[in-house]
Amino acid sequence: MKIYILTDIEGVGGIHRREQSSPSGSEYPAARELLTNEINAVVEGALEGGASEVLVSDSHAGGGNVIWNKLHPKATMVTPCGHGNWAPGLDSKIDAMFLLGNHAMAGTQDGILNHTFSSATIFNFTINGKKYGEIGVAAIVAGHYKVPVVFCSGDLAAVREAKKLLGGLEGVVVKEGYSMYKGKLFTPEKSCELVRNGAKRAMSKIGSIKPYILKPPYKLKMEFMRSDFADENMDIAGNKRLDSRSIGRTVNSVFELLSIYH
Ligand SMILES: [Zn+2]
Repeated sequence: MKIYILTDIEGVGGIHRREQSSPSGSEYPAARELLTNEINAVVEGALEGGASEVLVSDSHAGGGNVIWNKLHPKATMVTPCGHGNWAPGLDSKIDAMFLLGNHAMAGTQDGILNHTFSSATIFNFTINGKKYGEIGVAAIVAGHYKVPVVFCSGDLAAVREAKKLLGGLEGVVVKEGYSMYKGKLFTPEKSCELVRNGAKRAMSKIGSIKPYILKPPYKLKMEFMRSDFADENMDIAGNKRLDSRSIGRTVNSVFELLSIYH
């Protein structure tokens, strides 16, 4: 079975501050280590559960987070290819998608490092009138290929969001947020053990979890934190101003879901 692991960093065990998640942060080098170890634990669990091939997409901040020479030797890395194309190599031959290190959507009070694509500019993102975070958008893109999301790890808020949208997937909680930067954190060792066991269990769910299929057209609405962020994205052909802080756009493909902003 062929598995695709889409990774982010904010939902990795032990990560709860921007100094860790930002590539310019003082604690980012140590966070890279936490991420790489957690990926390796998930790869290990997936292999134990019967995976024959494991692709890993290092999607946080455009890639470059995984410590390459420490990645599990049986994993294959795919690098994100820019805005809106962060899951290259995902196709209908993949049996299941795993979401590792996820965070809840922007505005989730108990979501550690909660945001939707940009923690600096985006307030809300809706598709056909429903609010989506990064977990949901990943599920829609996977659903385009009829690939189910069977595993999600992150803080309790991220796992709650995934379960609400995607049903009975394997959710692995590695920390519990009190607020944006505070929470109850398991040690890295414990987090790795949890995701490894969860990944193995998730493998047995392949076949029983349906892909999340949302058919086009997609009516997008991006609400920014400030009106000037909306101003800056009005040069994209087809964007319409909905109100001072919001723009809208209708697209017909999952590959255009992020075409509404730069
Ligand atoms: Zn991220």
